[in-house]
Amino acid sequence: MNLHEYQGKELLSSFGVRIQRGIVSDDPQKAVAAAEQLAVETGTGWWVVKAQIHAGGRGKGGGVKLAKSLEEVADISKGIIGMMLKTPQTPPQGKKVHQVLVAEDVYYPGESEPEEFYMSVLLDRASGKNMIMYSTEGGMDIETVAEQTPHLIFTETIDPLMGLQAFQARKIAFNLGLQGPALKDMVKFVSALYTAFVKTDSSLFEINPVLKTSDEKILAVDAKVVLDDNALYRHKDLAECRDLREENPTEVAANAAGLNYVDLDGNVGCMVNGAGLAMSTMDLIKQSGGEPANFLDVGGTADAKRVETAFRIILKDENVQAILVNIFGGIVRCDRVAQGVIDAYKNMGDAINVPIIVRLQGTNALEAKELIDSSGLDVISATEFQEAADKVQAVLA
Ligand code: GDP
Ligand code: MN
Repeated sequence: MNLHEYQGKELLSSFGVRIQRGIVSDDPQKAVAAAEQLAVETGTGWWVVKAQIHAGGRGKGGGVKLAKSLEEVADISKGIIGMMLKTPQTPPQGKKVHQVLVAEDVYYPGESEPEEFYMSVLLDRASGKNMIMYSTEGGMDIETVAEQTPHLIFTETIDPLMGLQAFQARKIAFNLGLQGPALKDMVKFVSALYTAFVKTDSSLFEINPVLKTSDEKILAVDAKVVLDDNALYRHKDLAECRDLREENPTEVAANAAGLNYVDLDGNVGCMVNGAGLAMSTMDLIKQSGGEPANFLDVGGTADAKRVETAFRIILKDENVQAILVNIFGGIVRCDRVAQGVIDAYKNMGDAINVPIIVRLQGTNALEAKELIDSSGLDVISATEFQEAADKVQAVLA
């Protein structure tokens, strides 16, 4: 589950990580009130207005702007709230902005120039340990840095039993070229950040930029936080941060129905039981020249009601031109599933407007094929995997 920047910053702050302070608002008037309050609390006279959407690259897309007066806070907020913000990470049409974070300007001039760093905490799957990834090249697109100057990205692997050691935090601060009070502050920052990551069962923290202010303070200017869905049951307060407006509506509906569904770009809808079979079904579709429109694991009980729900969800995607049902009947008998498909089909009437190919294999597969073939419905049966994929290609041709 993803958090908004403002929620991520609140989370970090509650663990003692210093952040750029801000207040979230859903209308321009409240944004001005927020700016006034921040002026009192932090003494700032300039603010940044930041679009809150679940996507990065907002700065480049016009979703982060500096305001040098309350009038500018109002004008900029008016422009950003309600806009469709396009960034390299949003769908092509952009994402609607519902809220802005009004934050104190932290790039004020002083003794030294502000410096932007990159820092993330994530699981390194190769070593099975958490790692901190960091770079002096913060603020801009880290993907480009990784591609063109990979030696400027450092990693520090953390032993899960020992946790982050003091010498590791110092090494990070040192490698970032810091000294004096900024070095000390970075050590504190990194330690608090890592504690927050572990205590919240997060799967990703990406702080870009981490800023060294002109008066040697280290703080988080941005915060991308991804929580582990499987651990949300022990973080009820964080689970409440979920913003369904940011998520794919079909995926939300599917998950509510207990289906494991991921929307994809292709034209062949898939209904499969078991994640492994779903993956190999997608592979086979691709190998045969098609493109899967989704990943869908209907789970163990492929009864009529569940099959109907799955059909309806797949058909919400207008790109779908055929549906491949690929079910292995192990515990659930194939004839039961076939009857489920037939009942669902009859129930839905005209709602099914694309060819359906059903491949059932396992217990009572032959009985199942007979049921489908004699149903009089426009459903094409198959028993072999490749045969099913070929039949899909045939209807698409
Ligand atoms: P992203 O583009 O979605 O990653 O959004 P960020 O939160 O990283 O902000 C984008 C950029 O806005 C940062 O890299 C900074 O250059 C700039 N920015 C953020 N906060 C401030 C601020 O307080 N003052 C100024 N002048 N610029 C800021
Ligand atoms: Mn950023």
